[in-house]
Amino acid sequence: MKLNLLLTAAVLCLAVSACSDSPAPEADDAASDAAMTANPLLEDWDTPFGVPPFDRIQSEHYLPALRASMEAHNAEIDAIVADSDAPSFENTIEALERSGQSLSRVTRIFYALDSAHSDEVIKETAKTIAPELSAHSDNISLNKELFDRVLAVHEQRDDLGLSGEQQRLLEETHKQFVRSGANLEDAAQERLREINSELAELSQQFQDNVLDETNNFELLVTDKADLGDLPASLVALAADEAKRRDHDCECWAFTLQRPSINPFLQYSPNRKMRKRMFDGYAMRGDNDNEADNKAIISRTVQLRAERSALMGYDSHAHFVLSDNMAETPDNVYGLLDQIWKPALEISKVERADMQAMMKADGIEDRLRGWDWRYYTEKVRKAKFDLDEDALRPYFEVNAVRDGVFALATELFGLQFEQRNDLPTWHPDQQVFEVKEADGSHLAILYMDYFARESKRGGAWMNALRSQSNVDGFVAPVVTNNFNFPAPSGDSPSLLSLTEAETFFHEFGHALHGMFSKVTYESLAGTSTPRDFVEFPSQVMENWMRQPEVLRMFANHHETGEPIPQEVIDKITASATFNQGFATVEYMAAAYLDMAYHVLDTTEAVEPRGFENAAMADIGLIEEIIPRYRSGYFQHIFSGGYSAGYYSYIWSEILDADTFMAFQETSLFDQDTAARYREEILSKGGTLPGMELYQNFRGREPEIGPLLEKRGLN
Ligand SMILES: [Zn+2]
Repeated sequence: MKLNLLLTAAVLCLAVSACSDSPAPEADDAASDAAMTANPLLEDWDTPFGVPPFDRIQSEHYLPALRASMEAHNAEIDAIVADSDAPSFENTIEALERSGQSLSRVTRIFYALDSAHSDEVIKETAKTIAPELSAHSDNISLNKELFDRVLAVHEQRDDLGLSGEQQRLLEETHKQFVRSGANLEDAAQERLREINSELAELSQQFQDNVLDETNNFELLVTDKADLGDLPASLVALAADEAKRRDHDCECWAFTLQRPSINPFLQYSPNRKMRKRMFDGYAMRGDNDNEADNKAIISRTVQLRAERSALMGYDSHAHFVLSDNMAETPDNVYGLLDQIWKPALEISKVERADMQAMMKADGIEDRLRGWDWRYYTEKVRKAKFDLDEDALRPYFEVNAVRDGVFALATELFGLQFEQRNDLPTWHPDQQVFEVKEADGSHLAILYMDYFARESKRGGAWMNALRSQSNVDGFVAPVVTNNFNFPAPSGDSPSLLSLTEAETFFHEFGHALHGMFSKVTYESLAGTSTPRDFVEFPSQVMENWMRQPEVLRMFANHHETGEPIPQEVIDKITASATFNQGFATVEYMAAAYLDMAYHVLDTTEAVEPRGFENAAMADIGLIEEIIPRYRSGYFQHIFSGGYSAGYYSYIWSEILDADTFMAFQETSLFDQDTAARYREEILSKGGTLPGMELYQNFRGREPEIGPLLEKRGLN
């Protein structure tokens, strides 16, 4: 059982924003008590593979199940403390690891649903339970008698004859206690509890505000000309959305969800409308209304600074990074600064290209943020004769899935068998049994593809059940979640190149979960440092655009004809196109995250001015805004990536360098794949990231392949 329960939440991937509406009702305690009497979350499951019985679980079941599981966990902790035997690895560290199974099971499912298929009861439960879970974690990590036992075992660590993984578990457990304040004086611990509880509530409020701001926006188009070259499948989706919102007209509704806003900004020739969309997106949480997030940000940053000082660190970033591969803010800045300057220069060249194109369109104004995506498409077409949206017919969602699976078969010999007999949380979900080459069971994989109101934005993976082998082998159950455009009428779900890449990315996280082969759940699968965890996912993206891989799956959804060679050539030729923008947009957000969290003072910041100053410091050009502005930067204010948004580029050093290992041999080299699986994917967090990497590659990672991939060398 992890000490910090909230860390069982998903691996977040470039999440955008949330998507459901209206205020939540009060949870009904009487109904909850009734539901308790037969609560499937607290029973043993006789489903195939022991998957959660989603068909029997109701939203009302979560709150009582969470509370009952916390009670049960407390009793287990009490028993460990009350043990009259001297503390040993088995009766303390392993017993702790065994404890909280029910709570782990319920929280995993609860947070999976909270993200992927929420409703008013779930949202209200999340709000209610956040401070309770925070207090529960603190009660364990600040339990003096328990910590004394951990300390006693830790002191004898060299004489216990522990295996490598047991030593790692002991070190990690001890470290987690210390990092949770177990060593602090009573008064400091009291203050720590208050801080943690307040932070848990702020985080939940932040997320709810982004949800409200996202859902309160709509752009209604009544003149078809304003749709420009928007792909037919997305026009149909916007018409559906207008109907769903009760607009009785020939019109199209656009929202701030990615499948809606991005194509609009790329294709609508109406500059004013693009500006409205762009501002609607960028100003979320910064509108001085009841959903404004500025006060929450300011308070969060203050509390984090105060907490890190209590812990004896210079800043929140120092505290967080000391437990990551990067180790220090200096190391993070060292990497960011190396990439920032060339990327910024390239973005200025891109800007000049677009400005020229705009002038040719007869527009006298200078290029603005809301023009960037529109002119990117025009320049792409002019330079490479490539229209990204004309590619969609080759990327029907099931075809992309087949491509992802075929790649996994090529590399690792995996087999995928669709199962229609397993319960799901939504009828659109697909479920697969994943098998080894010899037909033996590996894992269960759930796929949830489409954007909908009950799902937050972005794409992510979670483990509904983590792999472990303490009392017999437990096979993993994992999910992938996306916000792809839903099918509409006769039009199937057709993905953009970027969306197809996201599919490969999330599947990489799924592999990390499915290939896990460790003893302890705490060290399994994606339980690695934040700046390591995006490595196995990002590495899969590298295969997507390779001609050999495209030929495996990119067939036209109507004609079945494979993607033409000349189109593949254009994709290859334009590989680094617009990478200045993509890099700068991402890195601006990474710098912003660091700026908030290297503060060594608890003096209040004013987020709007603070963000402007931080962006001026790095010389960000006006036409680009950070990938996430402060008001909706959920990764760092409600998602566990604080002082960690740099992780994507840090992990990219590893993934680009790893993909080079395949390029040096062959794209589907079985030996390299086997070594990658064995040394990285199966090991979870049982060794430090750098050690895992060196065991795989035989040396430390090199930055060259990353710079080359992004065209920055
Ligand atoms: Zn990811």
